Amino acid sequence: MSSEGHSSQPEASIHEDHYCEHPGCKRWGGYGFEQDRLSVKWFCREHQPEIYRGLTRHGAEA
Ligand SMILES: [Zn+2]
Repeated sequence: MSSEGHSSQPEASIHEDHYCEHPGCKRWGGYGFEQDRLSVKWFCREHQPEIYRGLTRHGAEA
């Protein structure tokens, strides 16, 4: 365990941490839904919107 000389810069980390925005849910928000050009809501698979812009859920069975 020697991490001296290394900063904790997340070089390869492009996305920010974003957890499900459903109240009380602590799961990872793996699905992003644009509210408008500047804001994105993140939800886990379970709490993602039923319908988003006319599209069905991610991972929904056809
Ligand atoms: Zn959730």
